[in-house]
This record gives sequence, structure tokens and C-alpha cells, in this order.
Amino acid sequence: AKPLLEVKNLRVSFKMYAGEVQAVRGVSFTVDKGEVLAIVGESGCGKSVTAQTLMRLVPSPPSVIKEGSSIVFDGEHEIAKMSESQMQHIRGNEIGMIFQDPMTSLNPTMTIGAQITEGILKHQKVKKSVAMARAEELLTLVGMSNAKERLQQYPHELSGGMRQRVMIALSLACGPKLLIADEPTTALDVTIQAQIIDLMRDIQQKTDTAIILITHDLGVVAEMAHKVIVMYAGKVVERGTLDEIFYEPRHPYTWGLLRSVPRLDSDKNVELESIPGTPPDLYAPPVGCAFAARCPYAMKVCQEIDPDHFVIHGDHTAACWLNHQDAPKVEMPVGIGR
Ligand code: SF4
Ligand code: MG
Repeated sequence: AKPLLEVKNLRVSFKMYAGEVQAVRGVSFTVDKGEVLAIVGESGCGKSVTAQTLMRLVPSPPSVIKEGSSIVFDGEHEIAKMSESQMQHIRGNEIGMIFQDPMTSLNPTMTIGAQITEGILKHQKVKKSVAMARAEELLTLVGMSNAKERLQQYPHELSGGMRQRVMIALSLACGPKLLIADEPTTALDVTIQAQIIDLMRDIQQKTDTAIILITHDLGVVAEMAHKVIVMYAGKVVERGTLDEIFYEPRHPYTWGLLRSVPRLDSDKNVELESIPGTPPDLYAPPVGCAFAARCPYAMKVCQEIDPDHFVIHGDHTAACWLNHQDAPKVEMPVGIGR
């Protein structure tokens, strides 16, 4: 069967006064129906730009989707080339989005009921009373009690966690095949984060909606994802199943990310080990491996030639010279892996 979403060689740049920032540099991945794909990486790695490009939410100008990029949704729609009016049929209807901060994405002047029914009325030919009943069902689905009364409330009358539940209800209103969740829990406190993750996982299983989860939080990834892609400096550096990425990672950048995750047994105030150094300037990306300046294993070849993906096993691949058959054998750092 064809994947629900097939992204091929996606390249997105921002044309700025000082030059062109190559934010996304040839990203490819697929998402199957009902699958949860996590895209992880530090801020500025291009994960959010990738997600927003799938919804065509990056303003153009200054952004440009480069020639040769392809985003095929549901086997037929070429999103990379769609007009804004075509996109309006897809956005919210076929593909839903959950943002980091519900306060900036909910309309403060409209009741919850009016916001949820707006999308339903726009995309589906139903009576207002039917849309209202559906909105009430959705609020119940996302675990809000007194759904009928909630429909009459405004966003400011709700807590942060409740607003994120409303955001999730809103994203599900038209029964999308794919949800894109960009840092869905980052703005919430830890206990609420856990509730929202449970809710998303529960809804994903009930509705079999595919999800692209964008996050820097590997704890969230472990809870939900089937498949993971790791991005660095606008490229995918490693891809694999959840277990492959967590237990058999083959890229030093992935090792670094995993070492900056709090262990379950550690105190949450513990200072996490972060990867020393900063990502390269994407006005002028390096010729060789983009991670070389921060990589403790960098070799001469790394400075000269950007590695392609090496196949580790099945669909598990890593873009690192250490996976070349002639490379020196390097042990994974302690504390990660099985
Ligand atoms: Fe490090 Fe070289 Fe691998 Fe890049 S290719 S991650 S510099 S070892
Ligand atoms: Mg972001």
C-alpha cells in the first residue's frame, strides 16, 4: 500500500537580506496510515519548518520550497505545488495541526463551541445543530467534563491543560487522516504534559489517525512514536523504529540527544548533559558532515565529504562515516543502548 504521506528531497530556504538560509536540506520520509512518526532534534534543526511546510504555513516570501521537493499526501495531492485555495481544503480537514501554545492558536473572542464548529461547517455539509453535537462529543472524547457548558466558554476561562485539550478537539473536528503536533506539551507543566500525552496516545489508538510529532523531548517520543527521524542542521541524520533509535542508535548526534534525556531514576532538577557546541550556520552549511565541529569521533573524511545514509538494518539508516565498513570500531557511550 502507498504511504499516507511521502516526503521526498524536501528543501526549504529563507531568502534574507544577508543571503539564503537553507533551513531544510533534502529531507525524505514516509508516514503510513495510523502511524506515529516523531521528528526530533534541537531547536533550529529544521523540524518545525518541515512540519509547517507540510501544511504550507511558512510564509512565502521569505520562504521558498526548492525545485525537486515533493510532498505527496494520500497518494495524489502534491502539497509542494498547491495553491492557497487548494490548501484550504486540506488544512484542518485532511491534515490537522496541534500547536505548542494553544493561547496563540485559539481565537480569544470566540467561544469554544463556535471555534470547533467553524471547521466542521466549513468542510462538511451539516446543520449547525449537528456540528454542535459533534463539538460536544469531541470535548467529551478529549476528557472534558460538562462538555455542553464548556462549549459556551471562552479560551481565557480555561486552564492551560484544558486549552490544549480544546486544541486537540479542534484538530480532530473534521476527522483528519494526519495530525501534525509541534511541541504539543512544551508549554505545559509536567503533570499536565503526562495527561496530554496519554490523551493523544489514547485518541491515536481509538481513531487510527497518523501523527507527526515534532519534539525535542525524547520522553514524549518514547511514549508515543512508532518511528523516529533525527534531524540536524536541516537534514535527517538517522531514521529507524523507536527501538532502533533508542537502543541501537548509530549516529553520534543521536547518542548526544539520548544522553541529554533524564533517566527515570534521576531527580528532575539534575543538570542534563547537553551536547557541547552549536549547530552550523545555515547561510553557509559546511561541506562535510554538519556535525563534525561538535563530534568527538570526527575523522578527516568527515570534514571533506558529507556522508550519505548507510543502511544499518531494514529501514534503519544513519548518515555517519562510522558506519562505513572500513571505519574504526567505536563503542556507544555508556548510559545509552540496552
Ligand atoms: Fe561524527 Fe564523522 Fe559521523 Fe559526522 S560523519 S557524525 S563527524 S563521525
Ligand atoms: Mg519549534
